[in-house]
Amino acid sequence: MAHPLAVPLADGAWRLHTVRGPWLNTFVFAQGPGREVTLVDTGLPGAPKRVLAGLAAIGRRPSDVRRIVVTHAHPDHAGGAAALAAATGAPVALHGDDVSFALAGAGPRFDPSTRGGRIMARLGKGTFPPVPVAEELTDGQALDGGLHVLATAGHTPGHVALLHEPSGVLVVGDALMNVGRMRVSPRALCNDARLCRQTVRRLAEVDHSVLAFSHGPSVADGAALGAHLRTALV
Ligand SMILES: [Zn+2]
Repeated sequence: MAHPLAVPLADGAWRLHTVRGPWLNTFVFAQGPGREVTLVDTGLPGAPKRVLAGLAAIGRRPSDVRRIVVTHAHPDHAGGAAALAAATGAPVALHGDDVSFALAGAGPRFDPSTRGGRIMARLGKGTFPPVPVAEELTDGQALDGGLHVLATAGHTPGHVALLHEPSGVLVVGDALMNVGRMRVSPRALCNDARLCRQTVRRLAEVDHSVLAFSHGPSVADGAALGAHLRTALV
């Protein structure tokens, strides 16, 4: 039976559960044959304890984390970044277009052209501890260990997906969700709802073997995204 906190996705790739079940995930990628790893996303502000327990479950100490990548500046992804940076000593990286939000500890506005976005805006931006950003990521950047940055704006201006080339795991962040069924980020949760849909088409062109969602169980089928797009988006 899979460990409740850490689920292996492929060689050198794991999904960590920051809540019970695969509904708010972070990811760990080996940087090479040694113990060093990259952590992708940090959960809500209360998540770091579970993330560190997940790392321990795969035999990694906090000092083994060499970089923390945040897919975007929303509280359920960036919320634990400050605490995890302090616990690991690792630098935090995210796309330049989300840096100002991460530094401020408040996500970008939701798309006011949608009714849901206007409702979300009234509910508040969703604040989190300001993130100590050490590095700005750019589209196409290759990080240690074969992790490639894919700018996928829409959900937020600086949202990124990440392809771990050695394992074929594609972390889609919130560009796609798999809660009940696979779907594009709900319009109400997007900074730019139109761009949210366009950007998913880019992801469909990326060769991968495992689709890894921040919200929901992973799908070990490289053709699943293309099939989804043919039925849901076209
Ligand atoms: Zn989000």
